[in-house]
Amino acid sequence: MDPDEALDVIDATLRERGFREVGPGRADYEGAIRVHGAQVDVRLHIPDVRFIELPEVHLKDRSQVSPELLAHVETRTGICYASQTGLPIDMFEPGEAILLILSLASRTLETSYAGGALRDVIDEYQAYWREKGGVRFLAPLSQETEKLQLSKIELESGQPNFVVHTQGSLAHYKPVKLQDVTVRQSSTPLGPTQGVRVPSTLAELEQWYCQQVGLNGSGWPGVLRDLANQALVFFDAPNALIGASLCMPTEILAGVKKGSIRHSKLPQLVEARKATIAIDRYEGTRSDLDSITSRNIGMSSPILELDIALVGGGTIGGYLAKFIVQSGGGAKGRLRIYDDDILKEGNLGRHLLPYGFLGMNKAKALKAELERFHPDLEIEAVPKNALRDWTELRKFNLIVDATGDWNVQNALNAEFLNARGDTLSAMLHCWVFMNGAGAQSFLNLADDFACFRCLRPKLSGGWRYPAGDERDELNTVPATCGEGSYIPFSVDASVTAAALANKALLDWANGQPGPRLRSAITDHTRGRYQKYRSPEPSKHCPACAHQRGEGE
Ligand SMILES: [Zn+2]
Repeated sequence: MDPDEALDVIDATLRERGFREVGPGRADYEGAIRVHGAQVDVRLHIPDVRFIELPEVHLKDRSQVSPELLAHVETRTGICYASQTGLPIDMFEPGEAILLILSLASRTLETSYAGGALRDVIDEYQAYWREKGGVRFLAPLSQETEKLQLSKIELESGQPNFVVHTQGSLAHYKPVKLQDVTVRQSSTPLGPTQGVRVPSTLAELEQWYCQQVGLNGSGWPGVLRDLANQALVFFDAPNALIGASLCMPTEILAGVKKGSIRHSKLPQLVEARKATIAIDRYEGTRSDLDSITSRNIGMSSPILELDIALVGGGTIGGYLAKFIVQSGGGAKGRLRIYDDDILKEGNLGRHLLPYGFLGMNKAKALKAELERFHPDLEIEAVPKNALRDWTELRKFNLIVDATGDWNVQNALNAEFLNARGDTLSAMLHCWVFMNGAGAQSFLNLADDFACFRCLRPKLSGGWRYPAGDERDELNTVPATCGEGSYIPFSVDASVTAAALANKALLDWANGQPGPRLRSAITDHTRGRYQKYRSPEPSKHCPACAHQRGEGE
């Protein structure tokens, strides 16, 4: 619809509802919406008739609604009737769209009347509390939180970055310490108390603290001592992570510096002046590896504490390593990458690693690249052939084979079948099928299902569940003799193989391994569809048949 036409429709619709155009924009109106029968005057600002930016509904007079109802009213953007992306609006029906928005604004205010207001304030309490800048918590918060400190670290973005971390961590950065941090846990939500919406002085903070159900009121002397010693005190509750520190009077600071005021006297001194000593309020955001990696999984990541060895840091292994890190690998458990090859120009077109790592061992380069993901991440890089390190390898919980190399796949499979340790319980292979026709992942738990070799028991024979047409000549050219026999296929095939493996890994770690062999077509002309399945062992498998008491 033509924008002018849309504006005309909107104009007619709004006039019919008693709204009048007030400017200064082309579509700025004033009128009233009804909230439980009462009129509430609003200003309507429509920045874009395609609704890429949502129309804003502002209260004209805040005194028309009780202050407690202002939870969903922001000064800048008006009534929060919908999150920006959560509300589909039809740009081809602009009149109806505007009516929908007005009714949503009414409903939002009515919900507040319905008793949700205080609850909303509590839900958004952190936003009310915010005053000073934000602080990022790199240390996970728990009852036994260790000694914490607030530091400044340099980010590549150049943004100021204040982080709370445990002393001695952040090896890759040079943290500049600012102050100590202590944390008090509250099992119940924090919110406004009788007389104190958010505290501004030490006296108000004391009053606020002692009325919180979830905070230990008798713990106030400890909080006061920390504050007096210029620590930043944080309160960690289900609804908020908020903190405070004292704006210490300069004469006290000078006294401490000169030595005329002893540290032990500080709590007493500030207590005496608590009505006038102001506080700075901070908000914290969880930025620890656990929080970051668990967010997209919807629970604490099942692979946080697993020891994972990744064999192969090539095109599949590079992306897979990134996916594993983003899923929680290496956060608390070990993540080790094996590769004895170096990064060459020919790799760049389908590798995670950039130009700057040319000539560097792939395992070491991946370690350097991936550790940029988070200040607390540590990855082990082993620049040698994994099969020469089997004694070490079997100490991991899971081996992920991303070499895509038949000989390595087979050797790892045989080692795994013969020498499973107590810790090593799974082997996950993934590969690009036949030069980019498809991608597959296969999980071996050394149980009643097939082993890797069962998928192609005879080398001269075909795959039992091929993800591509094996008669296609392009599918059968070996790609091992350097650049001369380089087979082109695009990066998507490698990423698909890595994606299949990452999901299989998470499913297994979650206790629901699901189908062991997962296939995807990446080239629609050469690929062959295979449904997800858990293949039975092959009677002819040279690797596992004798163990199962079959064949000979
Ligand atoms: Zn087998």
